[in-house]
Amino acid sequence: MAEHPHTVVIVGGGFGGLAAAKALRHSPAEVILIDRSNHHLFQPLLYQVATAVLGPGQIASPIRNILRDQSNATVIMGEVTGVNKEDRQVFVSDEDRKGVRLSYDSLILATGAQHSYFGHDEFARYAPGLKSLADAVAVRNKILKAFEQAEAEEDPRQHRDLLTFVLVGAGPTGVEMAAAVATLIRNSLRSDFRRIDPTIARVVLVDRSKRVLGSFSENLSTAAHDRLKSLGVEILLERGVDQIDEQGVIVAGERIASRTVIWTAGVTPSPAGKWLDVETDHTGRVRILKDLTVPGHPEVFVVGDTSSLDQDGKPLPGVAQVALQQGRYAGKLILRRLLGKSPPPPFRYFDKGSMAVVGKGFAILQTGKLAISGFLAWMAWAAIHLEFLAQSSLRVSVFVQWVWTYLTDQRGSRIIVNHLAASVTPAKEASARPAPKAPAPALNR
Ligand SMILES: Cc1cc2nc3c(=O)[nH]c(=O)nc-3n(C[C@H](O)[C@H](O)[C@H](O)COP(=O)(O)OP(=O)(O)OC[C@H]3O[C@@H](n4cnc5c(N)ncnc54)[C@H](O)[C@@H]3O)c2cc1C
Repeated sequence: MAEHPHTVVIVGGGFGGLAAAKALRHSPAEVILIDRSNHHLFQPLLYQVATAVLGPGQIASPIRNILRDQSNATVIMGEVTGVNKEDRQVFVSDEDRKGVRLSYDSLILATGAQHSYFGHDEFARYAPGLKSLADAVAVRNKILKAFEQAEAEEDPRQHRDLLTFVLVGAGPTGVEMAAAVATLIRNSLRSDFRRIDPTIARVVLVDRSKRVLGSFSENLSTAAHDRLKSLGVEILLERGVDQIDEQGVIVAGERIASRTVIWTAGVTPSPAGKWLDVETDHTGRVRILKDLTVPGHPEVFVVGDTSSLDQDGKPLPGVAQVALQQGRYAGKLILRRLLGKSPPPPFRYFDKGSMAVVGKGFAILQTGKLAISGFLAWMAWAAIHLEFLAQSSLRVSVFVQWVWTYLTDQRGSRIIVNHLAASVTPAKEASARPAPKAPAPALNR
């Protein structure tokens, strides 16, 4: 009887999980990659979907399509709800089946993070975050609808609330969003309306910290701040958000009336630590060893945003490069074990630098001792982001769209998609209408 191949179960088809699967391409292992969505998402460009530059299909690819040529990899769409590390099983649910047990010999958890409202989950109703494609489309709908409502609204007093956009969090996502919303308003929408002037819209960026983009050097942070100001973004620093409701936000005791509040302030890891019942850091990320496994279980790896590892006395950041490099390392380590080779040296993150875009043609870039801002940094940002998109078709499509948007200021995807109407209306209509007595005649071809 043929021997059962070593089964590697990877949970999560994001940066970490996909890199791990690819690293096992030439291994004798059977790779099973499970993700609750059918696509790999390039999260760094989510803000461009939310601000109508790109369409959802330009920053995401079906995972099974990415792995189509990897014959040892099987992709399953399902939600992992737990792990039994003693019996080496994960529990997977989908729409039809709940808690199906799937056995593994090695397990890689790469389940990422989701946005966190720091204990104020009630804010979620009024201030969507930006983590998935559905979030980005919901934010895009909200922003575009605000302008449509203002154009239809005859009472000019309502225009100010409708056209005030508040972004909570001045990290990379908040800054990129604020600059992109300001650019959308001032460049792309300015001549499209007749009854309102879109340029009266306010974009407000709020954060508790002392400066925007606090993880960058002070010079770059100042350059980004000045650039935001020149785009007309109002920056409120060292002020916390006390309340978010249907009327807007209360910031340091002062109300800002707004119908569109967007949350970019924080993330929380997936529940991998709870599934494994192992030590986590104060944010809930799984504490891992230098070979990316959990203590006492050399067959269980945790990589990317849901893991916590210190390097040179500091925790590694939750960025795509960490996830990619860790995923690759975990895959290679398993491969070496299967080939009977010695393990690689402990994992070490190679920091290639950080970047953030602040509107059209302007970015900041920090790598080693180099810190630049402006057009050159923006060109570097564009080239690097194109390179890391999952498929060449996306690279071509995004490149063409960026050139078009740069030259014309026209956005590629200014569409309000009402998913709710699409799923609810037919059911309502069906129940309201009497059932047809006879089958409808076939259509002529
Ligand atoms: C808006 C935004 C902008 C960003 N910009 C940048 C940037 O410019 N540069 C940068 O380096 N980083 C950026 N990041 C961070 C970067 O995207 C993450 O660090 C990176 O995605 C982490 O990779 P990961 O593999 O750990 O998780 P992810 O890429 O998040 O992948 C996790 C995967 O696991 C799946 N999953 C989760 N739970 C389950 C479950 N229970 N069952 C099945 N599947 C599950 C998810 O569907 C997802 O596909 C940004 C993040 C966001 C949200």
